[in-house]
Amino acid sequence: MSSGRVLIIGGGPAGIEAARGLADLGVPVTIVESRDRLGGMPIAAHYATLTPSLEDAEQAMARMLAPLLGNPAVELRLGAAVSGFAGAAGDFELSVARNGSQESVRAGAIIVATGFQHFDPGRETQMYGYYEFDDVITLPESEKMLKEHSFVRPSDGRLPERVAFIQCVGSRDRQIGNEFCSKVCCGVASKQAIEIRQQLPEAKVFIFYIDMRMYGYWENRIYWPAQEQYKVNYIRGIVAEVLKKGDRLVIRGEDTTLGRPMEIAVDVVVLSVGMEPSQGTREMARLLGLRQNKYGYIETEGVPLATVLTSVEGVFAAGACTGPADLEDSVSMGGAAALKAAALVRKKALAAGATG
Ligand SMILES: Cc1cc2nc3c(=O)[nH]c(=O)nc-3n(C[C@H](O)[C@H](O)[C@H](O)COP(=O)(O)OP(=O)(O)OC[C@H]3O[C@@H](n4cnc5c(N)ncnc54)[C@H](O)[C@@H]3O)c2cc1C
Ligand code: SF4
Repeated sequence: MSSGRVLIIGGGPAGIEAARGLADLGVPVTIVESRDRLGGMPIAAHYATLTPSLEDAEQAMARMLAPLLGNPAVELRLGAAVSGFAGAAGDFELSVARNGSQESVRAGAIIVATGFQHFDPGRETQMYGYYEFDDVITLPESEKMLKEHSFVRPSDGRLPERVAFIQCVGSRDRQIGNEFCSKVCCGVASKQAIEIRQQLPEAKVFIFYIDMRMYGYWENRIYWPAQEQYKVNYIRGIVAEVLKKGDRLVIRGEDTTLGRPMEIAVDVVVLSVGMEPSQGTREMARLLGLRQNKYGYIETEGVPLATVLTSVEGVFAAGACTGPADLEDSVSMGGAAALKAAALVRKKALAAGATG
């Protein structure tokens, strides 16, 4: 027996795109999402606008979701988790737990799109003072304030005069074992710097970086406007520590362009935290028996010429559960996974028909 259904675990941008593709092909889909809402990190972490389009994140995600809502080909299981797995490609049987009850779902193929979580900047070191000083925040916390048009000093609610971003927090760091670049934080920090200058034209904004990594059109759509139009100050340097002096924060380190020590007083420090595999990604990889790399991301087989195959036949992976990925990567992988999964369930159905 084979099943023509595809089960998607994770309803973020990658999972949503996979579901849209499958529904368009007439393949029935079940989406299992652990949160009570679809949309993934752009919704859960309150993104203000998307890089590089600067489109409102809620509106963009609502547009992406519209074809799924009320679609008879799509079953939604929100606030749910996959708790059991058996069978083989073409005929998997999964247990889905929700509201204290268990449901069994048969599917010919599975797409894992369980995404990432933000690096916890207090986990390994306190050198940037995240858990010590209220005015040291993370990129997602800054994004939320920008969305609400209330970018303030969290300690006293005053408007900041000087804001600094510190790049590569939790990424490109051999000491903590995250040697990879998280790919999006240079662009997202630069986008936020533009928004701070738009919302608070009097504020000075600094970005401390090792080197700026902008991909493709992010360079001309975000980086150059940030410098030239919005006068964001990019400082190539290594930040050694963040201290408190009076009611301000002081960033201490070395300006590596000028080759001399630097000390800059600011009101708010934004840590550009990188990506790590989400807890759900680690759990699903274990449950489904998928090979993971040393960081815990799901290993995709055949990269760079194949992007969504995993070590288990019939199980595909898409988006930031496979490694640092921006929205374009994640959505493209979701589409590729949909095509592979549709082809697999059709082939298995044909083979079952031929032998049956
Ligand atoms: C601060 C920050 C800002 C960013 N801003 C941008 C931007 O402006 N532009 C851009 O291109 N990229 C941006 N990114 C990257 C972007 O967020 C990701 O590319 C994108 O969210 C990845 O989509 P995804 O669907 O793979 O994963 P996610 O968005 O993480 O979605 C995964 C979904 O799976 C669900 N899930 C997890 N585990 C389970 C489980 N076991 N069972 C069921 N469901 C589960 C989660 O609840 C979630 O809904 C940003 C990243 C960061 C760190
Ligand atoms: S995108 Fe930029 S800030 Fe993020 S890890 Fe890469 S170099 Fe560092």
